[in-house]
Amino acid sequence: MSVLIFVDQLDGHIKKASHEALTYGSKIAEQLGTTSEAVVLGAVNEDLAALGQHGVKKVHHVQNDGLKQFDSQVYTKIIAQVAEQTGAKVVVFSNNSSGKALAPRVAVRLKAGLASGATALPDTSNGFVVRKNVFSGKAIANVATKSDIKVISLNVNAYTIVTGEGTAEVVPFNATVDAPKMKTVDSTKTSGKVALTEADIVVSAGRGLKGPENWKMVEELADELGAALACSRPVADAHWRPHNEHVGQTGVAIAPNLYIAIGISGAIQHLAGVNRSKTIVVINKDSEAPFFKAADYGIVGDAFEIIPKFTEAVKKIKGH
Ligand SMILES: Cc1cc2nc3c(=O)[nH]c(=O)nc-3n(C[C@H](O)[C@H](O)[C@H](O)COP(=O)(O)OP(=O)(O)OC[C@H]3O[C@@H](n4cnc5c(N)ncnc54)[C@H](O)[C@@H]3O)c2cc1C
Repeated sequence: MSVLIFVDQLDGHIKKASHEALTYGSKIAEQLGTTSEAVVLGAVNEDLAALGQHGVKKVHHVQNDGLKQFDSQVYTKIIAQVAEQTGAKVVVFSNNSSGKALAPRVAVRLKAGLASGATALPDTSNGFVVRKNVFSGKAIANVATKSDIKVISLNVNAYTIVTGEGTAEVVPFNATVDAPKMKTVDSTKTSGKVALTEADIVVSAGRGLKGPENWKMVEELADELGAALACSRPVADAHWRPHNEHVGQTGVAIAPNLYIAIGISGAIQHLAGVNRSKTIVVINKDSEAPFFKAADYGIVGDAFEIIPKFTEAVKKIKGH
């Protein structure tokens, strides 16, 4: 019995969310008095033995040209094979876009109970109880999983990465790799410099910016902070910004360390996608804007005056 952690990668680069899942899964293994192992699909440009720094003892590496393109059905079958062969009793994913596609499918194959969107380590003192947010973060549920095998997906940014010493043994895993049933005929990379779901800092703006021509100052602030850009839904609907930047209930859900919301009212549908951010800063000219209730820091004032001053202040601190 062991804990198996799926390591998600993009273009050979292991995602930050995977390092969180590795630390989290290894901690669960420690709680259960067992070891943790990882599974990596496809070619990776990083040293897989170094994943041992997060506590995993073994990395099962499946190398196959057919794995270049993410395919949830193909990936599911392989992960289930690895779980079965290693006798994994707990399988951990990040609750990012890949994890959301894979965790339920793998759970079905393994006849496992699924706890999606975990926010803390499971309570294993009496059974196996996973804590998660429900109703867009308005309530907390404790989910008891009674199946023999458990599948958990960990919310992004919900668990701190721990990097210690340790080296993992990297072993090739000979899996049956099916031909994908779907073929990608075209793909376009999003233009942002920092991926929104991976970003530590996100600068987001709403209808208060009046029009797309005013985004230059938002971009400048984001550049100085090394932040990703986001926006509210009406901004994307009006084509001021691309839809991949739209955050909220119907957009991307994010949980950066710092979320800066400029000229956004803070409607519940917007908050649903950003309220897991560690620190929220709100800039709004209306002191009654609902977003201030969710804010850690708030600035009441005109964004057109505040943003350039904010950018200048960041530049000064950075010595630019
Ligand atoms: C089913 C459903 C799903 C939805 N999903 C989403 C979603 O995923 N994401 C989302 O964002 N919305 C979503 N919405 C829309 C949501 O209800 C709000 O309408 C939307 O979030 C409002 O966007 P906004 O705050 O940019 O615009 P507004 O509500 O127009 O707010 C603009 C804000 O800017 C401030 N402002 C104006 N001028 C300035 C200035 N010069 N300086 C500083 N502040 C200024 C104003 O005081 C105001 O608070 C959804 C709605 C529905 C019904």
